[in-house]
Amino acid sequence: MSGVNIQGLSIKFGHNEVIKGLDLQVHEGEFLVLLGPSGCGKSTLLHSIAGLIDVSGGSIHIGGQDMTHAEPAERGIGMVFQSYALYPTMTVEKNMSFGLRVARVPKAEIARRVDKAAQMLQLTPLLDRKPAQLSGGQRQRVAIGRALVREAGVFLFDEPLSNLDAKLRAELRRELKLLHQTLGSTMVYVTHDQVEAMTLATRIVVMKSGVIQQIGTPAEVYERPANLFVAGFLGAPA
Ligand code: ADP
Ligand code: MG
Repeated sequence: MSGVNIQGLSIKFGHNEVIKGLDLQVHEGEFLVLLGPSGCGKSTLLHSIAGLIDVSGGSIHIGGQDMTHAEPAERGIGMVFQSYALYPTMTVEKNMSFGLRVARVPKAEIARRVDKAAQMLQLTPLLDRKPAQLSGGQRQRVAIGRALVREAGVFLFDEPLSNLDAKLRAELRRELKLLHQTLGSTMVYVTHDQVEAMTLATRIVVMKSGVIQQIGTPAEVYERPANLFVAGFLGAPA
């Protein structure tokens, strides 16, 4: 298990500073939700934690280690993206184990991890299927499974449920919550959906234009919004 400590983080695309001197402490084992409107920098922040983009300034520590310039594979994180690009020719089992095979994890260990993740995500009966033979919700479970088998201390989710219908979203929300309780890992979860934030979060970070507006428990940000933007965005009483 590990937390994430971000200090003075700045990210620029050309002259456009998308993340503006951001400080954020993600506590070990918490389910932190990054909430904010489209374009406010949520994905950019997540990608910087994952090491997928370069930072312009500041630092990122993961599990107490300076990972600001570390390669993605060195960071001990698992990531689930919004669009779950599964390998169409591979079975569910192969999709889930691919990253571990590339990393030369021993076969028996791969089998153990895939079995465990498949059980948690109710994918065991589907391990021999190809993605085309799965429903949208099942595919998204495979995408989550692919991250879980890394058995990382920190999991990053970028709007993983946004392509699903309301019923599936509600179902997967419950599963994600259970997963978090079972694993005890640190979760950083991006969404622009207030319901998702309210039901999943230990704490919510409300962002606007690359700047944190408020950090608090769901009850705190809903009942005591720090400003009009937070109140308006949550549809809460101002
Ligand atoms: P969110 O995930 O909150 O919707 P993003 O982090 O995707 O927001 O984007 C924040 C801002 O950064 C947007 O204005 C977007 O256009 C810009 N941006 C994101 N990625 C890039 C990139 N690779 N190159 C240039 N601009 C980018
Ligand atoms: Mg995004």
